Amino acid sequence: MTRSVLLWMARNPWLRRRLPRLGFVRRAVRRFMPGEDAESAFTAAAGLAASGQGILFTRLGENLAELAEADEVAAHYRSLLDRETSLPHPPELSVKPTQLGLDIDSEACFRHLDALAARAAEAGTWLWLDMEGSTYVDATMDLYERLRAAHPNVGICLQAYLKRTPTDLRRLLPLRPAVRLVKGAYDEPAAIAFRRRPEVDAAYQALALVLAEAARDGRARCALGTHDSGLIERIAAFADSAGVARGSLEVHMLYGIRARELARLNAAGFPASTLIAYGAFWYPWYMRRLAERPANVLFALRQLLP
Ligand SMILES: Cc1cc2nc3c(=O)[nH]c(=O)nc-3n(C[C@H](O)[C@H](O)[C@H](O)COP(=O)(O)OP(=O)(O)OC[C@H]3O[C@@H](n4cnc5c(N)ncnc54)[C@H](O)[C@@H]3O)c2cc1C
Repeated sequence: MTRSVLLWMARNPWLRRRLPRLGFVRRAVRRFMPGEDAESAFTAAAGLAASGQGILFTRLGENLAELAEADEVAAHYRSLLDRETSLPHPPELSVKPTQLGLDIDSEACFRHLDALAARAAEAGTWLWLDMEGSTYVDATMDLYERLRAAHPNVGICLQAYLKRTPTDLRRLLPLRPAVRLVKGAYDEPAAIAFRRRPEVDAAYQALALVLAEAARDGRARCALGTHDSGLIERIAAFADSAGVARGSLEVHMLYGIRARELARLNAAGFPASTLIAYGAFWYPWYMRRLAERPANVLFALRQLLP
């Protein structure tokens, strides 16, 4: 119930305009976001990278109104790839297709992604496609297939809560994909998505094992995009009995969530990465973080106190 209300708030245009202006909301979001500009993201990345973690960047934004905005977003991502940094490895990028114009012109979106993937390859890094609400899954899968045909350094996010995902994973496996498996962050109807946590976790585990075996055989890059370390340990135990080394099971978490747990998993042999989000358009993304753990609402309300 609370989750559905928070996800409704994430989509509500009136709240989208007003809530981000409130000081306590702006203070609360800092827990998950080092700042609104790329400088803050690079500063946060330096410390994490020094401890041996991989870094992913995403600039917050989705569902643009005009294609010119997509050109600006693409130019911004390109500038990250062109930048000289002191990080041991260039950051990987994780982008939302609607942020690059998917709603307006899917060919223009493809061209932006294609150019970014090529530039990312030159820079020795990766480009990931985030997965948005269920109405975008077909288009995102199509984009990924076209990109993967030309670029080995592209990945896609798949959502375990969607009942279609086992079929989508089977469709992608012949491409030797890179897949970041997540539980799923949107409010999807029961007809197409599991809504109860045990069902989502079971679906996640089954998908992760298929992906892990593909990673073992060099047929996939497997990233577990979850903060659920109990689930990660269960997957690792099953994977171990199937001969999958921990080094093939990457763990990706979001900046500000269970950072100590990620460091522990890294030390235990799982390659670990932190996805750092930044940008001015953080409201819907932040509301999805609250929906994942309604206790975070209390943290936000505490920011009202002096
Ligand atoms: C790297 C990465 C990329 C992602 N990309 C996408 C994407 O492209 N599309 C998409 O739909 N979803 C994406 N997600 C979000 C994902 O779908 C889940 O909504 C989110 O990860 C919460 O689920 P969980 O797997 O962490 O498990 P949960 O069962 O929700 O949480 C496990 C534990 O983690 C902690 N935790 C989880 N979330 C929070 C939080 N917000 N605040 C504080 N503690 C928390 C709690 O201790 C909780 O008990 C991404 C997540 C990650 C980590």
